[in-house]
Amino acid sequence: MATRRRTLLKVIVLGDSGVGKTSLMNQYVHNKFSLQYKATIGADFVTKELQIGDKLVTLQIWDTAGQERFQSLGAAFYRGADCCALVYDLNVAKSFDSLDNWHEEFLKQANPSDPKTFPFIVLGNKVDIDGGRSRVVSEKKAADWCASNGNIPYFETSAKEDYNVDEAFLTIAKTALANE
Ligand code: GDP
Ligand code: MG
Repeated sequence: MATRRRTLLKVIVLGDSGVGKTSLMNQYVHNKFSLQYKATIGADFVTKELQIGDKLVTLQIWDTAGQERFQSLGAAFYRGADCCALVYDLNVAKSFDSLDNWHEEFLKQANPSDPKTFPFIVLGNKVDIDGGRSRVVSEKKAADWCASNGNIPYFETSAKEDYNVDEAFLTIAKTALANE
């Protein structure tokens, strides 16, 4: 049997409280969604194995433990991150405006060797709400932000309807892998 290389990739998920970070992870890893809001308790990660080409990849996805408002995620949270997913809610302008802060905070805390090429991804979540009629951030506005911050890949997702969730995390894995 051919030798397989197993790669562990640490993914950090950041964004304002309530945008759907925990829900996206639950949908991706456990295929579950709940409308009940539970602030995440305790520093936590979940893992998911996936095959990319001839590589077996373990995604280790780190969730913020409800300290989003205090921006007091410890150094251990950021240490050794291979990729950072920035999540906002398409229906909440402030959560989009916060992307700048989260992006900056990540670069400051994780301090990657090459900030310009570090793999980020942006997810505009809750695209299902009102069939998209209540969205306040246009696709163009989001795409422009991504383009001007180093051509970050952009996905519109719904953790509720399991829309684009696998695709987004696969792109996260591939982007991080390419940067190894
Ligand atoms: P977090 O604070 O970023 O981890 O956000 P949560 O994952 O806890 O989600 C906050 C609330 O938004 C919960 O009530 C979820 O059920 C809801 N939610 C999350 N993702 C979606 C989505 O894609 N669509 C809809 N309609 N609601 C969502
Ligand atoms: Mg959460």
